Amino acid sequence: MINSVLETVIQQVRPLARQGRVATYIPELGKQDPDLLGIAMASVQGEVWTAGDWDRKFTMQSISKVVSLGLAMVEIGEERVFSRVGVDPTADPFNSIMRLEMVAPHRPQNPLINAGAIVTLSLLPHGEARERFEAVRDLARRLTGSQDLNLDEAVYLSEKETSDRNRSLAYFMRSVGVLEGDIEDILDSYFMQCSLSVNARDLAVMGATLASGGVNPFTGERVLPSKVCRVLRALMATCGLYDGSGEFAVRVGVPAKSGVGGGIVASVPMRYGIGVFGPALDPKGNSLGGIAMLEKLSQELSLRVL
Ligand code: GLN
Repeated sequence: MINSVLETVIQQVRPLARQGRVATYIPELGKQDPDLLGIAMASVQGEVWTAGDWDRKFTMQSISKVVSLGLAMVEIGEERVFSRVGVDPTADPFNSIMRLEMVAPHRPQNPLINAGAIVTLSLLPHGEARERFEAVRDLARRLTGSQDLNLDEAVYLSEKETSDRNRSLAYFMRSVGVLEGDIEDILDSYFMQCSLSVNARDLAVMGATLASGGVNPFTGERVLPSKVCRVLRALMATCGLYDGSGEFAVRVGVPAKSGVGGGIVASVPMRYGIGVFGPALDPKGNSLGGIAMLEKLSQELSLRVL
């Protein structure tokens, strides 16, 4: 039954998804086929359903911020992380610099916007970019249950070569004392984690692991403490789609996190994880088809929790 619901959702959303645009500010992402649409759903009991282009690989982009935040909370503790990064939603785009400058003490407003994710990564107790990235990748592998999570070298280099905006955010934060350390090295690990490549099924399993309170339903491993998962889901619900978070909460009503690669991971507590993929984005950088698929699925299967 669920397989046919997923198929129907894809068919219904296809015309709308065509109205979105692939991200081009990272040149390599501009090469994606805007017509792709994939969906996967995993239950906390370990069932999985898929439809469309669910096995196409794409880069996690901002979805990786959930992973590095979870890692930071485990490695250095919630209190230390949130003494450096806030927990409040913003009405600004994900790469905005405005509020950082205007509001003292210039602390990023939450860990799911770019500035907050860069500070979070800088707090990890690992020597250099590769090590920080490997630690994030290891947690991503355990959350998704997939060993096949690799760096998309082309996307990574493309972002590294062009990311003036993230460099600006990072150097500004250093100038006001909220970011310490080797800035280029910290940014490098940020670009690497954003370029981790996954498919919709990987995201569905990650969502199910967060939904279960931290136990991966497919491997049986306890990957994160349940308290960490609660915080991650709360931040996803309030900040996961940036300045589109409120509208998403009204339309879908489920904690979720998007990325400009076209993916969204959603987590329905104690029930399901969902991964959607559609690289054509809305003006806020969220997958247009992905949001529409989640909205239809939420109605069809009564998934709303917010
Ligand atoms: N790597 C992207 C950036 O920093 C991530 C942004 C996103 O997915 N919204 O711009």
